[in-house]
Amino acid sequence: MAIASVNPATGDTLHTFDELTDDQVEQKIARAAAAFREHRRTSFAERAERLRRAADILEAETDELARLATLEMGKTLASAKAEVAKCAKGCRWFADHTESLLADEPHDVGDDNANVFTRYEPLGPVLAVMPWNFPYWQVFRFACPALMAGNVGLLKHASNVPQVALAIEDVLRRAGFAEGVFQTLLVGSGKIEAIIDDDRVRAVTLTGSEPAGRQVGARAGQNVKSSVLELGGSDAFIVMPSADLDAAVDGAVTSRMLNNAQSCINAKRFIVHEQVVEEFTRRLVSEMEGLRIGDPMAEGTDLGPLSSPDAVETLAKQVSDTVAAGARLLTGGHPIERPGNYFAPTVLAEIPDGSPGHREEFFGPVALVWTARDADEAIRIANDSTFGLGGSAWTRDETEQRRFVAEVETGMMYINKFTESTPEVPFGGVKNSGYGRELAGFGPRTFVNAKTVWIN
Ligand code: NDP
Repeated sequence: MAIASVNPATGDTLHTFDELTDDQVEQKIARAAAAFREHRRTSFAERAERLRRAADILEAETDELARLATLEMGKTLASAKAEVAKCAKGCRWFADHTESLLADEPHDVGDDNANVFTRYEPLGPVLAVMPWNFPYWQVFRFACPALMAGNVGLLKHASNVPQVALAIEDVLRRAGFAEGVFQTLLVGSGKIEAIIDDDRVRAVTLTGSEPAGRQVGARAGQNVKSSVLELGGSDAFIVMPSADLDAAVDGAVTSRMLNNAQSCINAKRFIVHEQVVEEFTRRLVSEMEGLRIGDPMAEGTDLGPLSSPDAVETLAKQVSDTVAAGARLLTGGHPIERPGNYFAPTVLAEIPDGSPGHREEFFGPVALVWTARDADEAIRIANDSTFGLGGSAWTRDETEQRRFVAEVETGMMYINKFTESTPEVPFGGVKNSGYGRELAGFGPRTFVNAKTVWIN
């Protein structure tokens, strides 16, 4: 795929970029390795000061940075601004907390003469392969703890957000991180394996689709390098009879449509108790039909375009195949006739086993509704997925709450709230949604050598 900014709201090509040559990639890896030797010696206080300066820049330049994201990947300007603000928050959180999270950990071995502890050391250059959907946040989520821990970063961003990728490098450089501490590599995915194979690159993290994760994780494994995979999801959203239905419907629509309905943690599978399914679905359809679809730059737009024409085509096929298999189409179900990559808000019910709605992630504005007889059946349906990222359940019944927390197979479970990510809370999945955790205490401890030290 060419490295290019193409406005998803109009189809206009804004900018194209040449892919780096192998020689240029080599120079950047060499620079990363050299920068690591210096960066690892900087103090936590120095790194924190730079990260706080990055937060200041993000805040001062929110409008321009947000516009860039909206132009390249189509999210609404309001959500792009919120994303930049969240990155600033992430910078400050890791600036404040990393030193204590990575402090030496003493161990009592029953010998007063022994000084035994774990010391956390950075690994070196880490390759980050990132997606376009939260083009700033996904990168800062990796970069803040990694740079604070003393690692250096090489970013291979998605090929449709090159301007955001370059802007992030620029922000971190202006914040005071030395040349080579964080570099963007404008390369397609074809060059990734050679970069992972390079001895100077010590670890890799990928946020993206399951196929990309399998390939990158396998390559890291062959090279005995650690990896983190944050992959797709098809999160369950369970609604039981005791739920506050107003809040549940509101949460359902907000969660499903977040980020133009292209987030790994959007609620995607709605599993609703038979006592409330009729009312819940009627209200869900009505809310989905009331969304304002339009120019993502315009104030008041709820739903902008999908990221690419391919995304629309994939979603249209998933929907039509699910309907052909026997699902009931309650609203939408088709691309919208207008320039740009728009798809109508869609609700499908009675999803047949084996259909795309049952097996695949739908990365767009489609809500899939199941009916459950009781909590047992809701849990069975929720777990009948190859994914296990987030999940949420809406019920006031404390026994049910405990059961959903304990029995739904996910990396994150929210009760009476939809899944959200924030720097203070760990983030990640199980099953085909990946492995490893980012954010909170896990972030800084991911790419470090936990070195045991014993001094007699
Ligand atoms: P992709 O997997 O297509 O792309 C993600 C990144 O991986 C891009 O940089 C892409 O580069 C690269 N890539 C793609 N194929 C390969 C490959 N074979 N080897 C190495 N790198 C590769 O995902 P999308 O951009 O389509 O993002 C959407 C997906 O990401 C969804 O499944 C979503 O759920 C998931 N996701 C997961 C999140 C999480 O935190 N768990 C968060 C956000 C999204 P290029 O663009 O050059 O192809």
